[in-house]
Amino acid sequence: MTTTDWTSVHDMLRNARRIGVASHLRPDADALGSTIAFTLWLQSLGKEVHAFNEEGATGKFHYLPQHALVALPPADPGFYDVFVALDTSVKKRLGTVLEHIAPGTPILNIDHHVSNERFGDLNVVDPTAPATGQMLVEFFRMSGTPITRDMATNLFAAISTDTGSFQYAGTTERTFAAASHLISCGVDVPALSREMYENQPRRRFELLRHALETARFECDGRIATFSLPLEVTRRLEVLPEDNEGIIDHLRSVEGVEAAVFFEELPGEMVRVSARSKFPRIDVCKVCGLFGGGGHPMAAGARIPGTLADVSARFLDALSHETRN
Ligand code: 5GP
Ligand code: MN
Repeated sequence: MTTTDWTSVHDMLRNARRIGVASHLRPDADALGSTIAFTLWLQSLGKEVHAFNEEGATGKFHYLPQHALVALPPADPGFYDVFVALDTSVKKRLGTVLEHIAPGTPILNIDHHVSNERFGDLNVVDPTAPATGQMLVEFFRMSGTPITRDMATNLFAAISTDTGSFQYAGTTERTFAAASHLISCGVDVPALSREMYENQPRRRFELLRHALETARFECDGRIATFSLPLEVTRRLEVLPEDNEGIIDHLRSVEGVEAAVFFEELPGEMVRVSARSKFPRIDVCKVCGLFGGGGHPMAAGARIPGTLADVSARFLDALSHETRN
């Protein structure tokens, strides 16, 4: 975020009284942590803030301080002076939240996805940031805004999860500077990390067991895949939040260059989640061929079709990308 960007953000919000804040469906800790931290900041300015997400802040995110601020979209759409979309690359990923943005409402779009479609009236998009949370830390610091411990904990969770605990591409000295500042604002890193990484529901372990048992290695072991049929989702009572990170177990295998997870959704739809191990393999480009997007090394798409059909088509496209 440049100085010009944050001046524009302040200008846009200055006279707004009632502000809506939301992030993408199937939210992760970056989406929700950024939403909560931004909401707390706006509240400290005396704004009336309504934060929501298509799924609310579901169970597993109970460790995010003040997660109850994030509501399900209310039955009656409200009117906002400004609507803030965080961590959301394309407008349709706001899901049903979209129905709550009256036509003509000015939209402030703050995001780090390279595939961001600049759907806002003001777009602050920084693909060099590995998390929207990092952009917010830099924004708050540049504008001299105090970061409370609750804001800091949400922002640290956002950065820690989106960088795979400070490992993935995009993790730079800026990331550590942001994290360091957050710790100085009071984050209890061991306690937060325990909640984030060592408190997984048993369901998720059973899902991992299924993934490890059914994983397949294609293209001479360069591509690892795992499919989740609806029948298994139902049998194991898996929730959408449970499958985050399972794919990393596939990517971590020696020789694997890209990993893909195919999740069957109701209505002949498949959710694809793709990860690459090397910058030369751009899974965002491959997902883009199917109407999805994300980051070069972590992307996704929702593709109509059966598991068998979608996985065959996707793997064909990906094998071309890994060959280049
Ligand atoms: P995940 O695989 O964890 O669901 O998502 C990885 C990245 O790709 C995230 O940054 C997410 O926002 C993005 N992504 C996932 N699914 C879609 C999709 O259907 N469309 C777009 N545009 N981006 C997606
Ligand atoms: Mn993010």
